[in-house]
Amino acid sequence: MKDTSCIFCKIANGTIPSYKVYEDNDVIAFLDVNPASRGHTLVVTKEHFSNMTTCPKSILDKVFEVAQTIAQAQIAQLGATGVNVLTNVGESAGQTVHHFHVHVIPRYDNDGLKLAFPPKQLADSEMTDIKSSIEKAL
Ligand code: AMP
Ligand code: ZN
Repeated sequence: MKDTSCIFCKIANGTIPSYKVYEDNDVIAFLDVNPASRGHTLVVTKEHFSNMTTCPKSILDKVFEVAQTIAQAQIAQLGATGVNVLTNVGESAGQTVHHFHVHVIPRYDNDGLKLAFPPKQLADSEMTDIKSSIEKAL
C-alpha cells in the first residue's frame, strides 16, 4: 500500500532530493544523510514494504544484488577495507524509517565505529528449543 507520508517513498519518486548513486525499475540507492562512515549508502525498494520480512523474494534478491555492487564500489573507489551490510526490522531492532532499506556501511582501518553484539551464552536445552522453534517455520 502507498504511504504518502513515507520519506523513502518520496525519495524514490523524486519528490524530495537525495544523493542518488544508483537507480533501476525496482531499487534506488542513495547516501545516508547522517552517515555512520564515509560513503554509508542505503539500498531501498521503490515500492513501499515496511521491512525485509514483507518484501517479496524476487525484489529482495535485487536489493541484495545492488548492495553487493555498492560494497564493491566502496572498496574499489573509496578505499574501504571492509563493509557492514545490515537491515533493521522493527523498532526493537532500531528501525526508524519503516520502508525497507539495507545499510551498506564501508569500513576503514581503525575507523572507531562499533557495531557491537555483546556475547551471551545460553544453556544447551535452550539452544535446542530455539533451534526446533525456528526449524518448524522453515
Ligand atoms: P533505520 O534506523 O535502519 O530505519 O535507518 C534509517 C536511516 O535513514 C538512518 O541512518 C537515517 O540517517 C537515514 N535517513 C533518514 N532520512 C533520510 C534522508 N532524507 N536521506 C537519506 N537518509 C536518510
Ligand atoms: Zn515508503
